[in-house]
This record gives sequence, structure tokens and C-alpha cells, in this order.
Amino acid sequence: MKILEEKILKEGQAIDKDILKVDSFLNQQVDVELMEKIGKEFAKHFENKNITKVATIESSGIAPATLTALALNVPLVIFKKQPSKVLNDEFYSVETISFTKRNTYNLIASKKYLLKDDNILIIDDFLANGEASSSAMKIVNMAGANVAGIGIVIEKSFQPGREKLEKLGVDVYSLARIKKLEKGIVEFI
Ligand code: 5GP
Repeated sequence: MKILEEKILKEGQAIDKDILKVDSFLNQQVDVELMEKIGKEFAKHFENKNITKVATIESSGIAPATLTALALNVPLVIFKKQPSKVLNDEFYSVETISFTKRNTYNLIASKKYLLKDDNILIIDDFLANGEASSSAMKIVNMAGANVAGIGIVIEKSFQPGREKLEKLGVDVYSLARIKKLEKGIVEFI
């Protein structure tokens, strides 16, 4: 998505060879107009998949996922990050490794909003090692629902996330695919 790549080149900051900061439009402040275009683009790609719900991971997935749900006219379900295990049978819970914080958290989702005939589109802001997205897939599978696809705003293609998700047999659609990061440098595929 050209407009997203231009935004990344203008405002993104590669802080090292692994992490890109996009605080000005996705993580701290949100460019809502850009999110609307992102939502429409995901909706266009997945429009024939009979999506019943969009699911995302708090907090930075919420903005692009909201606009995608709006464009598809379906509800948004938010999976939350909890430091400790939720000993509660109202929630699904999957232990997940955090890429940015280098610790683990429990990704949890209310059982109430995931039904076995749901066809879920998972949206997230970044794809790195594929931990967050694959845990989200596990939760959808625990509910007996189907993962219709995964939409990623920024994929770091030099990290193993895409390969991991493709091995699970899911359609991964990324709007910007970065092949190389270096302090001050961002290169796309
Ligand atoms: P993964 O689970 O695929 O290893 O990492 C994806 C998650 O880590 C995303 O939900 C995102 O919050 C965070 N993340 C991974 N890489 C980056 C990055 O380069 N920049 C930012 N801002 N977040 C990242």
C-alpha cells in the first residue's frame, strides 16, 4: 500500500535492525484518515470470505481493526494481554511471548463473543515472529471458530512470522512488507 509505505518512510524510525517506531500514526498517536484507508484495503481483500467478526490484540491493533470492522460491517472483538493466568472459565487464555517487551503474557478472550460458526479475520499492527497472531489463531480455534485470514499493517519480512503463519495454512495479507531495517534506513520488498 503505497500511501502507507510513504508514511513509514516519512515518519517511521528504525531504532535498530529489529524494531521500527511508528508512534506518530499507529502506536501513540493515530492517523485516523490513514486507518480508514487501511480498513478499506483489508475489507476489499477479504470481502468474499464471509467474515462474521474482526478480532485484534490490544492495544495497537485496535485502531486498524476498528476501521476494518466498520468497512466490513461486522463487530470487533478485542483480545487482551494479562500478566497472569486468568483462572476463570469465562475466558480462553494462551501464553504468548512479547516481541517488544521480551517477556510473556497471557492473551485472553471472552468465550461469549467467539462462537463456533464465526469466521474471524485477525488484524494486528506488526508481524515479527508471529507469536501474537498465532496465539490469536489458537484462541479462535479453541472456540471452534474459523480463521478466515490475517491482516497485518506492517510486516517485517526478514523475521520469521509470515513463514510460521503460512505453515499453519492461513492467508496472510500485509499492507507494507519490510525487507531490511537499519538505524535510519527502511527498505520494502
Ligand atoms: P510477533 O508476535 O509477531 O513477534 O510481534 C508482533 C507484536 O509485537 C505486535 O503486536 C506489535 O505490538 C509488536 N511489535 C513487533 N515488532 C514491532 C516493531 O518493530 N515496532 C512496534 N512498534 N511494535 C512491534
